[in-house]
Amino acid sequence: MPIADPELMKIVENRILNKKICRVCGAINPPTATRCRRCRSSNLRPKRKALAAKK
Ligand SMILES: [Zn+2]
Repeated sequence: MPIADPELMKIVENRILNKKICRVCGAINPPTATRCRRCRSSNLRPKRKALAAKK
């Protein structure tokens, strides 16, 4: 279902993309996290992907 409201779209985008993913266990952490909350690894990557690429 496409989201028509561009303002709402931005909020949704931030909610989805503004996260950090653990490279070790794949857990989703808050963007402020410096360590994984599950395995304590500091090997985190930011989840930033263009939504436009999604079909
Ligand atoms: Zn982890």
